Amino acid sequence: MIGQRSLFSDDPLEMCTDLDQLKELNLQCRRCGLRDGCNGVVFGKGNPRARLMLIGEGPGAEEDRQGLPFVGAAGQLLDKILAAAEIPVEEVYIANIVKCRPPNNRVPTREEMDACLPWLWRQIELISPAIIVLLGSTALQGLVDPKGRITRVRGQWLDWNGIKVMPTYHPAALLRDPSKKKPAWEDFKKVRDLYRQLKEREARLNLA
Ligand code: SF4
Repeated sequence: MIGQRSLFSDDPLEMCTDLDQLKELNLQCRRCGLRDGCNGVVFGKGNPRARLMLIGEGPGAEEDRQGLPFVGAAGQLLDKILAAAEIPVEEVYIANIVKCRPPNNRVPTREEMDACLPWLWRQIELISPAIIVLLGSTALQGLVDPKGRITRVRGQWLDWNGIKVMPTYHPAALLRDPSKKKPAWEDFKKVRDLYRQLKEREARLNLA
């Protein structure tokens, strides 16, 4: 079990055995006040068997409107980065630390993150990725290190529950400050290389 959820086997999240069940439950969530100020829960999107997962901060206005993560300008940039790294977008899974849009796109509070994290932990358990890319400080602080600073640890592989984790800048930060694009691309090249190795190794094992 990932995270600090209930130890009892009747934890409703533990009882969800696939992403569809988890999503259905998540859509009804009212564990924190963010749900009152948004259109709906933005669960996540992508391949339920992804080996690579990308995690951002929370939905923005466009994401809230469409009910999907990373569909606004930052999402379009992320699509371009993945394409440049030759990582097919249909192979990955994308989610956020909080699943409801914070008012005016403010950073979610620690309490809101803590309320929402069990959903993400269960998502990660069900998907079981080998690699996670954390996009921005909130993703780093929410999942791995509450005091972590993205400027300090970006570009370095971390280990989290046996999963290789690469922290890097959020695409929205790249749009605000283009000088961050080059270092972010260096980080994504590391992700690309490890992802390729992983896929090649898994392909060899499947043939054996
Ligand atoms: S942000 Fe997360 S915990 Fe809060 S209401 Fe939305 S889904 Fe529930």
